[in-house]
Amino acid sequence: MPRNGHRAGPGAAAAGHTAAALADCEPTSYWLDRADAPPATPRLTGGTGARLAVIGGGFTGLWTALMAVERDPSADVVLLEARRVGWAASGRNGGFCSASLTHGIANGIARFEAEMPALVRLGQANLDEIAATVGSRGIDCGFERTGELAVATAPWQLDGLATEAAAAARYGEQAVLLDAGAVRAEVDSPAYLGGAWYPDSCAMLDPARLAWGLRQACVESGVRIYENTPVRAIAEDGRGGLRLSTPRGSVHAGRVALGAGCYRPLLRRLRHYLVPVYDYALMTEPLSGPQLAGIGWRNRQGVADSGNQFHYYRLTSDNRILWGGYDAVYYNGGRITAAQDQRPQTFATLAANFFGTFPQLAGQVRFTHAWGGVIDTCSRFCAFFGSAYGGRLGYVAGYTGLGVGATRFGAQVLLDKIENRDSERTRLALVRSKPLPFPPEPVRSGVIQLTRSSIARADENEGRRDAWLRLLDRVGLGFDS
Ligand SMILES: Cc1cc2nc3c(=O)[nH]c(=O)nc-3n(C[C@H](O)[C@H](O)[C@H](O)COP(=O)(O)OP(=O)(O)OC[C@H]3O[C@@H](n4cnc5c(N)ncnc54)[C@H](O)[C@@H]3O)c2cc1C
Repeated sequence: MPRNGHRAGPGAAAAGHTAAALADCEPTSYWLDRADAPPATPRLTGGTGARLAVIGGGFTGLWTALMAVERDPSADVVLLEARRVGWAASGRNGGFCSASLTHGIANGIARFEAEMPALVRLGQANLDEIAATVGSRGIDCGFERTGELAVATAPWQLDGLATEAAAAARYGEQAVLLDAGAVRAEVDSPAYLGGAWYPDSCAMLDPARLAWGLRQACVESGVRIYENTPVRAIAEDGRGGLRLSTPRGSVHAGRVALGAGCYRPLLRRLRHYLVPVYDYALMTEPLSGPQLAGIGWRNRQGVADSGNQFHYYRLTSDNRILWGGYDAVYYNGGRITAAQDQRPQTFATLAANFFGTFPQLAGQVRFTHAWGGVIDTCSRFCAFFGSAYGGRLGYVAGYTGLGVGATRFGAQVLLDKIENRDSERTRLALVRSKPLPFPPEPVRSGVIQLTRSSIARADENEGRRDAWLRLLDRVGLGFDS
């Protein structure tokens, strides 16, 4: 999610409700915890060939495979997924499908001001095209183009909201600035002091159902998907293509598209640019009619508050509230483990802040699911691209918490690159440049933990950034979720 948020204080009244509300949570992503999840495809056994091999079955890999066959129905495409399609970030996120390709407008202006008109236009078109595919393929993922509401919960955040809304309007986005009364008429929290509503630039969706729908569309279009098939190594195959080795087989492919997030990168160079950052979320039980009436929310927008440590929250189609964010956790050494998907102290903070924001629901609503997932953070907060093996392999990574929509754009760029296609997209500075690398460990851990505490202090200090954050801002190095 783009940076825009604040700390909603737990409040003494709310604090007592949190433990009871969290008592019976399933420790898994609500979106993935469905009886009708599709069964696994077979693993790859033995050798096979393909014109294009896609590594990774998250949104990046799925869109890449699907658009490859849409561009050329005779394309021969294999998709290899280490575990299950959509099990990683793509099936655990908030489901905010934003038009932004730059992790929010402020980050875009700070880094790519000259091409923001094009980036905003391409981002809106990307969101329109996602909506069109969801419609034409009949993907039942609860897609609702509700827009997004940014809310201020501390006075220092109001100026930032107004500046950002004005910038968005300059680039042709719809942006409506709301005072405290008007924002509370949308969603009623006593914590809100003002807001900005972007009615057209974000949709809410069920991310696992989008991933499963894209998987189905791929299969129907002839893509061969092998789940539980991790690629262990990539090498030249001596025949002008690449050989991908998996535990029980291999693929000889003319071209390879790598969209594997930040799991043990297959290309060493990616280790310099990516850090795994954990983001956590809670899901409530469905709200009753009177409970929902107590908070309004008739327009069902996604909401994000505006501190450096921010919450994002939204309604599901059966009127649960997904509530996530705030802590963005880097485990020293960049460890990724299943155990880290659960973080009780973060869940307690999230629950307390939930009831601090909606005291109407204290003692009324329980959480059913609590989970975490890994974000592929890079120092500029938006995706970067590259090639290897003489252009036969293309990669994209680094969406930093805003990839639900942007992965489709990333997939288009990836296909342009591996097909050697010159396009408006491939000429963008966003596509041609790289983020600053992170320093190696153990310095990396030290720098990130120092940055996290400075960010928390800034929120406590009316948003004022200390000397360390100002230095990072000057060199263009950042840490976000
Ligand atoms: C808690 C949370 C909340 C978020 N909320 C939002 C949100 O509301 N809006 C938003 O826009 N973004 C959000 N994001 C970010 C968004 O989910 C990601 O940007 C997006 O899903 C990235 O998709 P991906 O396909 O690039 O990566 P992933 O979904 O991480 O998929 C990568 C896949 O590659 C596979 N893989 C890795 N290595 C190999 C290998 N060697 N061989 C085969 N397969 C391999 C993995 O198993 C995985 O399935 C959130 C993320 C998290 C964790």
